Amino acid sequence: MSKLFAYVAAAAFLFFSACTAESKPVEAPAPNAEPSAAAPTSLSPITEETLAKLAKADAKDGNVDKVVHRCAGCALGMDGEAKWPLQVQDYSMHFCKQACLDRYAKDPAQAIAALKIKD
Ligand SMILES: [Zn+2]
Repeated sequence: MSKLFAYVAAAAFLFFSACTAESKPVEAPAPNAEPSAAAPTSLSPITEETLAKLAKADAKDGNVDKVVHRCAGCALGMDGEAKWPLQVQDYSMHFCKQACLDRYAKDPAQAIAALKIKD
């Protein structure tokens, strides 16, 4: 009994001393974050703002047809291709390569929010 108590006390001491010795922020990202293959658990919601951004991106290719033909992964700087598509509500986004598509597919609303469209 006392042996168990000693063990628990020692463990608690180690735990707390380790904590106080650590000066890094608590919310450091986990070293083994989820693999890219895992389905995202919490996507950002598609908002009015997202759709407005999509409409603007759509117009950027000269055709308002709900197809964002320019690659959003490249800030609409180059043409996308229909073989790398991403459907976001009514819009079909075309990307120029798999990597660009992956970046948006992970969390479309968040990626679109970060997209800067030049006027
Ligand atoms: Zn691209």
